[in-house]
Amino acid sequence: MRIYIAGSGAMGCRFGYQLQKSGEDVVLLDNWEDHIAAIQKNGLTIVGDEPDNVPMTIMKPTQAKDVADFIILFTKAMQLPSMLEDIKQIIGAHTKVLCLLNGLGHEDTIRKYIKEENILMGVTVWTAGLKGPGVAILQGKGTINMQSFDKNGAESSREIVDVMNKAGLNVIYDEDVLPSIWRKACVNGTMNSTCALCDCTIGEFFATEDALHTVRCIIHEFCEVGIASGIKLNEKEIVDYVMHVSEIAAPHYPSMHQDLVQNHRLTEIDFINGAVARRGKKLGIDTPYCQMITDLIHAKEHILKIA
Ligand code: NAD
Repeated sequence: MRIYIAGSGAMGCRFGYQLQKSGEDVVLLDNWEDHIAAIQKNGLTIVGDEPDNVPMTIMKPTQAKDVADFIILFTKAMQLPSMLEDIKQIIGAHTKVLCLLNGLGHEDTIRKYIKEENILMGVTVWTAGLKGPGVAILQGKGTINMQSFDKNGAESSREIVDVMNKAGLNVIYDEDVLPSIWRKACVNGTMNSTCALCDCTIGEFFATEDALHTVRCIIHEFCEVGIASGIKLNEKEIVDYVMHVSEIAAPHYPSMHQDLVQNHRLTEIDFINGAVARRGKKLGIDTPYCQMITDLIHAKEHILKIA
């Protein structure tokens, strides 16, 4: 199967690496010049659980020419529209496209480029990091929940599930994936932005009663807006899940902290808390916590002169 990874940062490298190892024909697409140069010169280097070094094909998205059987989107959320524009030439009538980005509402962007029966939406708890250009940090294991966006695409998605499972990616075909996507967004919406703003680890943030109050208010806003949008969410179950993740991930700085505080990169806030605030406005639901957190992250992006 000809597979393109559209956005080959940390997660794109993980998925591309595992799929190539399992025998698939994988091409990484990316726009970061140093990363492309490093992989072209030295191959993709893996550090972490099972160190490795493998040659991999990588190029800029506009350089890809052959129509894809399968594309996995792994840009940061704000890079998604330009990536889809840059890969138009490899999207055929039968090209399946899987979105595993964190955040909400990506289906609205993707359906402008891809037929609904070819869109797969999902969520993953696999993780990855980048040590530098061409060097991915792969630790731990994960799973993926995914579903065809349109019921007509469910049957033809089975092959994709099989290919990914052959690569050890642990895919579950989910008959209703949106609640899982929103649940993950709640995790990101309570930990990412808050730890970036407070400049602390997840464990440090969740250790204070004031912070826990904020966490509960954010989850409440996500659930009110999600339920009003027709997503089946159980607020108590989500609170328990977020608390559980906060314990497992306690020593870590979440990715938004890494992006904003450590690397001075733009954040995905508009697709997490910001998406809930925007949708809340349309539905007439107040979301003061999500709105304020979004505003504060944007303020920080401006202070750092990256916005
Ligand atoms: P990433 O930041 O590693 O890569 C995204 C893009 O940014 C890539 O095109 C990459 O080349 C580019 N990039 C990265 N560092 C750069 C630098 N220093 N200079 C210039 N360009 C750079 O993002 P990711 O962690 O792979 O995440 C992709 C998507 O998956 C996001 O929506 C994220 O929220 C989600 N996600 C990430 C993880 C994780 O553990 N990293 C887990 C689940 C979901």
